[in-house]
Amino acid sequence: MDIDTIAAVATPPGEGGIGIIRLSGKKSLEIADAIFKGASEKPLSGLEERRLNYGHIVNPKDRRAVDEVMAVYMKEPKTYTKEDVVEIHCHGGAISVRRILELVLLEGARLAEKGEFTKRAFLNGRIDLSQAEAVIDLIKAKTDANFDMSLNQLEGSMTLKVRELQNELLSMLAHIEASIDFPDQDVEEITSEELKKTAKHVYEEIDKLIATSNTGRIIKEGVKTVILGKPNVGKSSLMNALLRENRAIVTDIPGTTRDIIEEYVNINGIPLRIVDTAGIRETDDLVEKIGVERAKEMLRDADLAIVVFDCSKELEQEDIEIISLVKDKPAIVLFNKTDLDSKLREEDVSNMLKDKYIITTSMLEGKGIDKLEEKLKEMFLSSEVEIGEDPIVTNTRQRDLLIKAKENVQDALDALNMEMPVDCIEVDIKGCWENLGFITGDSIGEDIIDKIFKNFCIGK
Ligand code: GDP
Ligand code: ZN
Repeated sequence: MDIDTIAAVATPPGEGGIGIIRLSGKKSLEIADAIFKGASEKPLSGLEERRLNYGHIVNPKDRRAVDEVMAVYMKEPKTYTKEDVVEIHCHGGAISVRRILELVLLEGARLAEKGEFTKRAFLNGRIDLSQAEAVIDLIKAKTDANFDMSLNQLEGSMTLKVRELQNELLSMLAHIEASIDFPDQDVEEITSEELKKTAKHVYEEIDKLIATSNTGRIIKEGVKTVILGKPNVGKSSLMNALLRENRAIVTDIPGTTRDIIEEYVNINGIPLRIVDTAGIRETDDLVEKIGVERAKEMLRDADLAIVVFDCSKELEQEDIEIISLVKDKPAIVLFNKTDLDSKLREEDVSNMLKDKYIITTSMLEGKGIDKLEEKLKEMFLSSEVEIGEDPIVTNTRQRDLLIKAKENVQDALDALNMEMPVDCIEVDIKGCWENLGFITGDSIGEDIIDKIFKNFCIGK
């Protein structure tokens, strides 16, 4: 494959201790030699491989120093991309990385696209597609659980499982071929039983994988949570209590709309992605600030609503409005301020919100938060989510393919049960094999590959 040499700044923008410019491709070392001058004037290629070498980047036109750097080269194939790779570690900050990148490009490298280094690792066969996806997830991980899950996938847990299932399908195909070659009645009967057994097993295994996808999504994206309640019921106090007890909030993340802020709270490994806490915290009234329409919209794709009532007050019109908003949503109801005289009975709410779980709390006294956390765990981690060796489906692409593969096996099983000739099921088994192969990217179209790598950042 004759592909060009790519380059990008691998460190995030802004000031930092060091900045790294990375190159990958046949001309990496040649380009580095043109602009790097080591101690005793040696070019990079004259220095030891896989070692950080001290030197300067110089402008080849006037040999003037651009920055003082450490540089390393790694010969293919044992590199991230399986191509020759050069890394130049310069002083952190916008100017140095920009100047060096400019020189590198002038010497013939092309600016890398998003994810292009990882794409090359995939195209050159170092990692498969599920592993490439794991790299994106690692970078974007907001919780330890998410990171661990992705690391597992990067190390090949999904790949291994897919290969294992594909091998079973191959053995089925071999059986089918055999019975076509020796169309003996007995052989066919034995074959049919064997095939059913294997197909059932594959079916169950695929089903198990699909079942992990909800956990995978929640670990990855968090439980999208909206806290609702009229002013003064204790929403901010709840937020603060959650933040305080679960220090591991990662960061404020600006959402798609300018005024939406998401905050992650880590509860027993479940990331709650609480939406619009800024609204709650700053204006003390989410519903009033954003309006009922907006609240409805936020609730539409929320996984959970936490509805807070002040039980020292009787229900008001506003409470009723909020109740009607969350009627058909997964919701937990909090009766807050239980330290005060109660004017609210559980029936008042449970009449209108059937089968919603009610927890009594006092944010003032710190009571009830533990019960809330218990309940969250129960709701979202029904299958306990030990991040172990087993693969977890981490995105909808994988999930959709598994669903297709499962349909293929189902068709095969139906055909077997109807005692159709075994060669009729061959096409289903092949279809299943192929759909599983799309997960690892054994056979997949250019457009899909491009789409996947678009999610990366530059320089990865
Ligand atoms: P928000 O407007 O819904 O965000 O409510 P806040 O969390 O700002 O609380 C409003 C007021 O109620 C504050 O003065 C809190 O200290 C108080 N508050 C919150 N939770 C409790 C509680 O459980 N008991 C009592 N007595 N007061 C509370
Ligand atoms: Zn508030």
